[in-house]
Amino acid sequence: MKFAVKAWSSGSARTGLLQLGNCPSPIETPALLLSTRKGLPYFIAPDLLPSLPSPDSHLLQISPIHFLEGLSPKTISNVGGLHQMLGLPEYGFAAVARDSLQCLPECNSTNKHGASFETPCGRLLIKPVDYLELINSMRPNIWATLADEVPAWVSDKRNKTSVDRTVRWLDECISLSSAGGAVLGSIVGGSSVEERERCAQEVARRNVTGYLIGGFGLGESMDERPALLNAATAILQDEKPRMVCGLGLPEEVLQGVAAGIDLFNSEYIYHLTLGGFALAFPLGGIKISVSKPDPSDIGNDRSKINLRATVYRKDTSPIVEDCSCYTCQNHTKAYINHLLNVHEMLAQILLEIHNTHHYLEFFKSIREAIKAGEFEQFRNRFIESRRDHLALAAVA
Ligand SMILES: [Zn+2]
Repeated sequence: MKFAVKAWSSGSARTGLLQLGNCPSPIETPALLLSTRKGLPYFIAPDLLPSLPSPDSHLLQISPIHFLEGLSPKTISNVGGLHQMLGLPEYGFAAVARDSLQCLPECNSTNKHGASFETPCGRLLIKPVDYLELINSMRPNIWATLADEVPAWVSDKRNKTSVDRTVRWLDECISLSSAGGAVLGSIVGGSSVEERERCAQEVARRNVTGYLIGGFGLGESMDERPALLNAATAILQDEKPRMVCGLGLPEEVLQGVAAGIDLFNSEYIYHLTLGGFALAFPLGGIKISVSKPDPSDIGNDRSKINLRATVYRKDTSPIVEDCSCYTCQNHTKAYINHLLNVHEMLAQILLEIHNTHHYLEFFKSIREAIKAGEFEQFRNRFIESRRDHLALAAVA
């Protein structure tokens, strides 16, 4: 893996290029990794993957824990690793233990031997040696070391222990690694700025290719996040990529980008899709305009629309008028509303295509704003446009 920062804007926001050996073209950052279940996006079949913007959609995030109940690590290794097994040789895979969908960290059962996760197969304790056995057989392009992630409300003592364990497991993971691939050193520290700094300093001293800043989305408030993110990123080497887990909403992504994060995951898209929502916020850089809400907007926050709503039953327009995705080019809101009502999985397939496409376009707008040196203006305009709309909708 090669990574280079190309442009900076508003202090820490940055764009870069990530080159993975098997991907035909470099991927621009800040980038979105597509969340997967057992290596494939939840509802998008492999034959529809090429319809997503390329190469932006070529980074997939996997959780090795999904495979624990299936093929043995030896079989995966004999097949030739993840890329061969999934038939996606030109895609990049980033392995992270936690995925917040199926493998939630469960800090009360985590102990000095390993991290505990709530999974569909029950609570599992994953030791560094088990985790690395999976990593070594799967051979992802990028993998993150095992972390002891704790929620924001744990005691200072527990938080300190989580940092100590995460750093110890980092050393263990690196010593057990035989598959190569880029190593992201996990950084935790809960809601303590001092612990986040201590963890970042320890990880920055190690021989890692990049960083995974974890422990977010676990009860901390949006207001305390910038200080926690900056505490870590200010210490990390600029030339190495930084990934974050647990920041999904557009405003949260913008917070992350402002702190110098390069890679984000897309669990937000999965939750939207499952709920029957479609992303519909305007994409237009700092030129975003605020239009008057129409009656069908009531109850929506303009970032997304609820396609289950009866107001869409006879709506023959696409989700977003000028969207170039497969769904908007071929289908109407009325059809997707019907599919949702009759519980056809095609609804989720079409929604995930649109939502992924729309969010990838959002990331593209962020990159363009950074390249133009206008990230702060872009961010302020984006947040204002949503606030203005909510105010207008309340009046209407
Ligand atoms: Zn679309």
